Amino acid sequence: MTNSFTCTTTEGHAGPFAIPTDLLIGGQWVAAVSGKRIDILDPATETVLTSVADASPAEGIAAVDAASAAARAWAATPPRKRADILLACFHAMMAEQEWLAQLITLENGKALADARGEVAHAAEFFRWYAEEAVRINGELSVSPGGANRIMVQYQPIGIALLITPWNFPAAMATRKIAPALAAGCTCILKPAEETPLTALAVAEIMRRAGVPAGVVNVINTSDPGPVCGDILHDPRVRKLSFTGSTEVGRILLRQAADQVISSSMELGGNAPFLVLDDADLDEAIEGALVAKMRNAGEACTAANRFYVQRGIHDAFVAKLVDHMSAMKMGPGLEGATQCGAMINRAAIDKIEHLVADAVSRGAEIKLGGRAPAGAGFFYPPSVLANVQPGSEILSTEVFGPVAAVIPFDDPQEAVSLANATEYGLAAYVYTNDLKRGLQMAEQIEAGMVAINRGLVSDAAAPFGGVKQSGLGREGSHHGLLEYCEAKYIAVSW
Ligand code: ADP
Repeated sequence: MTNSFTCTTTEGHAGPFAIPTDLLIGGQWVAAVSGKRIDILDPATETVLTSVADASPAEGIAAVDAASAAARAWAATPPRKRADILLACFHAMMAEQEWLAQLITLENGKALADARGEVAHAAEFFRWYAEEAVRINGELSVSPGGANRIMVQYQPIGIALLITPWNFPAAMATRKIAPALAAGCTCILKPAEETPLTALAVAEIMRRAGVPAGVVNVINTSDPGPVCGDILHDPRVRKLSFTGSTEVGRILLRQAADQVISSSMELGGNAPFLVLDDADLDEAIEGALVAKMRNAGEACTAANRFYVQRGIHDAFVAKLVDHMSAMKMGPGLEGATQCGAMINRAAIDKIEHLVADAVSRGAEIKLGGRAPAGAGFFYPPSVLANVQPGSEILSTEVFGPVAAVIPFDDPQEAVSLANATEYGLAAYVYTNDLKRGLQMAEQIEAGMVAINRGLVSDAAAPFGGVKQSGLGREGSHHGLLEYCEAKYIAVSW
């Protein structure tokens, strides 16, 4: 009898199944041999929702055994069949969009509107990669010397370890699982210890939608270092895809180096949001609210630094304060909430530290700036103006609903400020001069630049960073190729 958690929506819908809270290994839900469990908290109330099995390194290797046993048959499954299964996963997820959204809100704290958006975005990876599974085209050419043909075939890279963070517990999982399966790889998912329930629900949806045993395995652990370390030292594992902090990314890259494991890394960001004098103010505010407040700022693409040109600066700050002050902070499941709970106490402590540091260096608090008393990990929408150079908030992701605004005079100076970081994930530019916007987009050191938009994520677009924000891309055809090896066959005929 497997352990489970019944998630019932506020409308009384108990979902298609009780969510198994054990480990998924070889198509079976199994309890941890140690009997250990990890408590899962509701960040809005700080109460324990349930617990999940806590895997040991041996169970990580059991998951590799299962992924290995399933690998050959899955790689040989016709692409159309793989596509059909992925499409079934898309439809099954969308059929339970509201239930999954409420589950995400329960364990992550985000506002329900954000969670609904996440489920749709997450499911879209299944649909996109169902379409990609049948389009893994090779190449054929005549060698320049004319002696032979150069044939290139894309083959599944092998067993993949997928490690995901807590901020998008559904989308970060499907963004990795879907291309892995489309390419013909089997995998082991290691969700974040704060938010495993969503991943477990998605895994059960996939199992019921026809994903064969062993193709997707799920391991929760409170001790990810040794569990993932052992998996990365198993010679059968050939791929690592990680989304999380740059610090942990570095540790994993070092471990992956031992067996030269192909590594895709989506790491930290420090996104600049540039507003030029000629920008449409209302559009810039609308974009700023999306870039800053989606997920209450808990996104690696979240705007962290607002550089606003002098001529529009005061109007921008005033309007931003106006709009952010109207945003309702509260438990994510309450319909009117736009700014839900942060993930944990440490997140609140970090935000408080960064705000205090900025204020001690001369920043003015125009809105918010203080966590409320009482239960739940809440921080209100906040605006800091005149943030001074050297403030920690300019070099560290705040990962919360705090907008730090800095004036500038010359657009070239703004590009230099935008680039003055070791990160390079997303950047935003608002201007009505598209020529200048495109020139700036080319100069900004980021993997993704949004011009007159506050949102970049799209299953059909290559998501990823430059500099210390990561390696490789997720989403689009590029994301599929991360799970493929190019096999070159030299052939004469
Ligand atoms: P965050 O600071 O956002 O929690 P982390 O980088 O710490 O980000 O965590 C992202 C993911 O990496 C989580 O699934 C976490 O369990 C995992 N993780 C943390 N430390 C390690 C480690 N040493 N080895 C493997 N995975 C790890």
